[in-house]
Amino acid sequence: MEQQIHITVRYNLATGDVNLNEIVFELKQLRDSLMLRILEQILKDYDDLIAERLSRTDIYPSKKRRGLGRHLRREDSQRRFCRGRKVRKRGYRRQLRKISTIFGDLQIPIREVECLKCGARYCPLLGALRIDAYAHKEMNFEHQVIEAVIDTNYRRLIDGRSIDISLGGIHNLVVGSDIDKLYQESVDLEQISGLMADGTGVKQHKGRKGELRIAMGITRAGHVEPLGCFTNTDWSEIEQVVKERIKQAKALNIPFIYDGEPGLDDFLADVAESQRCTWHGPRGLYHALWQDGLKKKDSEPQTDTLKQLIGIELAEGDYEILKEEDKQQVKDRCDASKREIQEMIKTFEDKGYRHGAAYLKNLSARLFTHIEIWLKTGVIAPKTISRLERVFREIGRRLKKIAWGWSDKAVTNLSKMIMIKQYSPEKWEQYWKEKLGIKGYFHIQLMEVTS
Ligand SMILES: [Zn+2]
Repeated sequence: MEQQIHITVRYNLATGDVNLNEIVFELKQLRDSLMLRILEQILKDYDDLIAERLSRTDIYPSKKRRGLGRHLRREDSQRRFCRGRKVRKRGYRRQLRKISTIFGDLQIPIREVECLKCGARYCPLLGALRIDAYAHKEMNFEHQVIEAVIDTNYRRLIDGRSIDISLGGIHNLVVGSDIDKLYQESVDLEQISGLMADGTGVKQHKGRKGELRIAMGITRAGHVEPLGCFTNTDWSEIEQVVKERIKQAKALNIPFIYDGEPGLDDFLADVAESQRCTWHGPRGLYHALWQDGLKKKDSEPQTDTLKQLIGIELAEGDYEILKEEDKQQVKDRCDASKREIQEMIKTFEDKGYRHGAAYLKNLSARLFTHIEIWLKTGVIAPKTISRLERVFREIGRRLKKIAWGWSDKAVTNLSKMIMIKQYSPEKWEQYWKEKLGIKGYFHIQLMEVTS
């Protein structure tokens, strides 16, 4: 259905005085309000068109009413839809309908009609526009607000553009989001070189301390593959959710890396082999020996030794052309390191370093997984959780900027959004296109501008 809108613009210019900057500046001021007026006109025309088709059943065949006039049957406790598609116009709703858009707020009168079959009164425009009775925002608006929150410039968005949304309103958008949908799709582990999980503290409502936990993979190409974000959730429950997503039956030659967090010792053990983060190992030992009463200068030689023992370099590049003796060298060093760690444990026990011995014992079984995997497959798997720590910093920076008490759901959802936008941008774009329902049902062109 082709329609036209005519726009008349009036301007005054001080001949001989005005410069280009001023003209462009003034046009910029006009931009959003012009778009709002065009939108308003389109919606009014559409409202008329719909009312015409539903009321003039003598002119329009039923197929012209396809997609129009859906409404709930009047006084039906079961809230069933009415099949009636013939209406009488009943003028306009007394209250203007407010809709927030990326151009600003729109207030428009909306037609009401009466169904001739059931007598229900309703506004067919709202149904046709796919906005429900109480929604006051179009989805582009939600999109922009959420993007702004993620980029931490939401203040500028609101202040600079007179967009009418409170911090609480943003909170509701984040909490009400269906971003969870994207976290149910299954993930292919074929290209993954390692899995990792860890937690970090977040400040929540009324200063309550909560914990955000994330599980993710690193692909062979070095990209982050988000697996899940959780707030104040048990590791066992997290494991179930992640398992659902990876649907992996057989064990793969990949490590699961963690920093020694209790509850993660056997995480995803059917799929991956535990690897303690080699960066956190020496730090954890320092802490354990401190519990045994050792000062830094006394524990430093021990932690330095441990650092050396686990710092075995693997040859990057083509594993296939690597000489057998080079592999053997790595294997020998790895075996030697293991033996030396056993000796360290023995020494600690002899000296009565109870915490140090227990820590190292627990650590030692899971320190060289990445080397064993390399010897078996040639894949250099990650051995620290530094990538995940970077992710936590990214998320933490944004959560902190938005300074009000976050609920569990808000922390979880916002973390998911930040991760998807950052690490799976094509999924993020697809998600919004689907949400916005952009399918090519509306086109508009500028015809001519003359004076
Ligand atoms: Zn009806």
